[in-house]
Amino acid sequence: MHPNVPAGLYRYIGPHGFVRVVDTMGDDRAIVRAARVTAQTTKQISSDRGLLRYLLRHHHGTPFEMCEICLHVRVPMDIWRQWIRHRTASVNEVSSRYGALTPEFASTDPEEWRTAAGRLRPGGTPGLFKQDAGKIFSIAERELWDNAEDAYRELLAAGVAPEMARKVLPLGTYTEAYWKIDLRNLLHFLELRLAPGAQAEIREYAEAIAKIVQEWVPLTWEAFKDYRLDAVTLTGPELRALRAGDWVCLSPGECKELDDKLEKINATQEILRTPTDS
Ligand SMILES: Cc1cc2nc3c(=O)[nH]c(=O)nc-3n(C[C@H](O)[C@H](O)[C@H](O)COP(=O)(O)OP(=O)(O)OC[C@H]3O[C@@H](n4cnc5c(N)ncnc54)[C@H](O)[C@@H]3O)c2cc1C
Repeated sequence: MHPNVPAGLYRYIGPHGFVRVVDTMGDDRAIVRAARVTAQTTKQISSDRGLLRYLLRHHHGTPFEMCEICLHVRVPMDIWRQWIRHRTASVNEVSSRYGALTPEFASTDPEEWRTAAGRLRPGGTPGLFKQDAGKIFSIAERELWDNAEDAYRELLAAGVAPEMARKVLPLGTYTEAYWKIDLRNLLHFLELRLAPGAQAEIREYAEAIAKIVQEWVPLTWEAFKDYRLDAVTLTGPELRALRAGDWVCLSPGECKELDDKLEKINATQEILRTPTDS
């Protein structure tokens, strides 16, 4: 267990969700030690920090598999459905088949309801509904959940098997799991789930996990931030379009993505774009 990541510390996400470290194995030094065994190039880099940065920059992933973390997480089912798509973790989830759940729901405050418009633009801020509309949605959500909870309890009270009764519970119900993953795959998870295009609710969990990673392996985190999170990667067609000063070869989707990248580079579009692509 690493001293910087105390086991048992709950990081709450909303009133009912959390992420808690159960255990860790390895740290920055374990990655460096493993890398130094493998190749002459890595031995020539004398500082641990320099070596870690070299490994990350050049996508040498296996040394990062020397570190593992086990998290205890409590997540609404709709978010868990996205989370569980990351296949490289080991998972043990609470059973709602052999025992009854105490259903708790991820409720939405009236000012939190997002509109569909703007949702798909990476980094775009989707609009929010006015509070009056939001209040109506939140009340409807609450009513649905109260009904679902009543139905669930009634089915159980009538002797229905929990594995069938659970069908009436909505996607906003929480599940709990132990989730163990190595650092290489955790960084991949974070890269996808911290991205502006990720759903805000899973991003909140990713942000909580990112803080844990930062405390656990600070040098790796620094390199990951520099070479992945804050990096801008250009595709072949994007590079060709920029060199030619003509974006006609790019699809509308690609043009939008390139726009976003240029914004990230902080270059004004006027400098890099030509009049042909308006
Ligand atoms: C913004 C966003 C939107 C999404 N939308 C959708 C959607 O609409 N529909 C949908 O179905 N999914 C969607 N996904 C899920 C997405 O397609 C991936 O399933 C998920 O992000 C897991 O990523 P992964 O497969 O790269 O990595 P993981 O499963 O975490 O695996 C990590 C890495 O291990 C390797 N790996 C794992 N398993 C295999 C394998 N069997 N063969 C070879 N290599 C393997 C790969 O290199 C992989 O990148 C979305 C994800 C994001 C982030």
